[in-house]
Amino acid sequence: MNRDALRSLADLAGAELEGAHPLDVLRWSGETFGERFAITASMGDTVLATLAAEAVPGIQVIFLDTGYHFPQTLATRDQVAAELDVKVVSVRPQLTVAEQNVKYGQSLYARDPDLCCSMRKVEPLNRVLRGYEAWASGIRRDESASRADTPVVGFDERRGLVKVSPLATWTQADVDAYAADRGVIVNPLVELGFASVGCAPCTQRVAPGEDARAGRWAGQEKTECGLHV
Ligand code: SF4
Repeated sequence: MNRDALRSLADLAGAELEGAHPLDVLRWSGETFGERFAITASMGDTVLATLAAEAVPGIQVIFLDTGYHFPQTLATRDQVAAELDVKVVSVRPQLTVAEQNVKYGQSLYARDPDLCCSMRKVEPLNRVLRGYEAWASGIRRDESASRADTPVVGFDERRGLVKVSPLATWTQADVDAYAADRGVIVNPLVELGFASVGCAPCTQRVAPGEDARAGRWAGQEKTECGLHV
């Protein structure tokens, strides 16, 4: 499908699937795009991957292996690959962390996190999504003001792809209830107080009741890695 057809399809589906269960949104995506549909997962939690494995068995799960992940996150990725009916695709940046340190200096994440995210997350995602027509992520409207208008199915203008957000209308309570009911694989960091898990240098624990994403790039104005703008 060309860009205009994908955009029209996204507009129609976004209206029709508003309020649909995430499983139904994922089934529609799998039936509509087949092999040209993939999900992304940060492995901070495995709710979307678990739902996708049920709705679209064998689906490709893209994991952005930035080189800065906690060991627990990599172990969670490996457990997902071993236990769920999915195919995990780990995508790496063009530069290793060591090569980046030589070229840009140590701890770029502390000096210019936008550039670091651009090289270690955004470019790899853009590269791997070439060849797909649609992709899904686990973002939700209740996570932050910048995500409050997230459509269930929208059009990713920057990449020219349909963007699916099956969990857009779910709350943290919905996610927790599903995870408990299904006994989903849990990243051990969550039980240690990391409500939203990203790269180790840019992720902190949050206090009970604090916004889940408050621990990401704490102390900086940055709130998004650039994947969802
Ligand atoms: S989250 Fe931090 S370490 Fe990871 S890519 Fe972005 S700036 Fe770099």
